[in-house]
Amino acid sequence: MNRFEDTFAQPSKLALIGFPYDENSSFMKGAADAPPQIRAAFRSDASNFWSEAGVDLGAEGTFFDAGDVEPVAGTKMSSLIEDSVRTLLTDNLAPICLGGDHSITYPIIRAVSKKYPDLSILHFDAHPDLYDELLGNRHSHASPFARIMEEGLAKRLVQVGIRAVNGHQREQAERFGVEIIEMRHWRDDLTFDFDSPLYISFDMDALDPAFAPGVSHREPGGLSTRQAIGLIQRLKAKVITADIVEFNPRMDPFQTTAVVCAKLLKEIAAKMLE
Ligand code: MN
Ligand code: MN
Repeated sequence: MNRFEDTFAQPSKLALIGFPYDENSSFMKGAADAPPQIRAAFRSDASNFWSEAGVDLGAEGTFFDAGDVEPVAGTKMSSLIEDSVRTLLTDNLAPICLGGDHSITYPIIRAVSKKYPDLSILHFDAHPDLYDELLGNRHSHASPFARIMEEGLAKRLVQVGIRAVNGHQREQAERFGVEIIEMRHWRDDLTFDFDSPLYISFDMDALDPAFAPGVSHREPGGLSTRQAIGLIQRLKAKVITADIVEFNPRMDPFQTTAVVCAKLLKEIAAKMLE
């Protein structure tokens, strides 16, 4: 047993929970295989449990691993995700949720917004995920932020890494008042000051496929790993919950992307402990 696993029995601050679910992926399945791969990379002896700024994530009382939630069919999965996250929040744990496809973010946010009604969201993605529906599915992984904004579950939604927006999604962004920092307007000194509790949703395709090839929708021209980490480190915000989604191990033959997920997990976790 390594040091990380030793800490599970202690009272914890953060919770890891996996949702191995990709039924709402429109193009390619595989994201359901991600949570165990991310955990393995996180625990790997190839690195250590320290964040870059010096937070020891292997310290006692840091993590509770709630394991993976066994998927169920149809709309019941959405309730199961929402209930699982609500339970962790009720126990005063700050969840870090491992997907799965991006559809899991809507039920997660339903739970989070009940505890934090003035929620802000920072969303890393190549895509705005604002489709009213895709291929007849209103719960598509291309639609979670349309549902979230329709229901008024967040007071502010900021999107970064965006570089695949069509006309419909531009209209949706305008309708919901979404702040999109398109990739073509990216600056390396970009920073945000959030005055309300912040949720970070990290779709791995926000990164350039050169850094994170293990995704279902490779979109060139994205963020470097360094740029994404830099933005997380510069944030002025109280980060209360996060997700890392859309890693597809079937597209990741050399486990490159799994290691990037683990790195982001560390930096986001360190931010949450600030
Ligand atoms: Mn995406
Ligand atoms: Mn997405």
